[in-house]
Amino acid sequence: MDNKLRIAGIVEESIVDGPGIRFVVFTQGCKHNCPGCHNPHTHSFDGGEIVEIDSIIDSIKENPLLSGVTLSGGEPFEQAKALAELSKKIKELGYNIISYTGYTYEYIIENSSEASGWMDLLKEIDILIDGRFEIEKKSLNLRYKGSSNQRIIDVKKTMASGNIVIASI
Ligand code: SF4
Repeated sequence: MDNKLRIAGIVEESIVDGPGIRFVVFTQGCKHNCPGCHNPHTHSFDGGEIVEIDSIIDSIKENPLLSGVTLSGGEPFEQAKALAELSKKIKELGYNIISYTGYTYEYIIENSSEASGWMDLLKEIDILIDGRFEIEKKSLNLRYKGSSNQRIIDVKKTMASGNIVIASI
């Protein structure tokens, strides 16, 4: 079902999920169970709705004011193959991609497999905001992050250098 996604919802214009005006896809399904999660309705792998990737692309094309697209959740990496396909089409439109994940960058690199499609998705992402939400590290002063353990990673520079490079956004 790589041409379809199970989503919790879409926000067509957001200014809080990365720089500029962003189209946000909230995926459905998450195993992390972070205490204090703000989106518990996104945890079930049976909830939400199934949508065609091409219908999301059509919606993105309708808004010339967008700066980019943000993948949020739920856990985007549970649907990595379909999101990789979506992301390739988003990149063809010239938009940058930010993705949230409850996994760490290192965990994704170490545990990726052909079946998971994690590397296929990671390669399409410009900025990865990684790590679980940790309620004891929660702060309202953290731009684009819920807790201070999370990192805003420049994926291209990190892949090229082999060391985590924090993005300046
Ligand atoms: S990763 Fe995100 S959606 Fe999943 S439980 Fe943690 S805070 Fe909630």
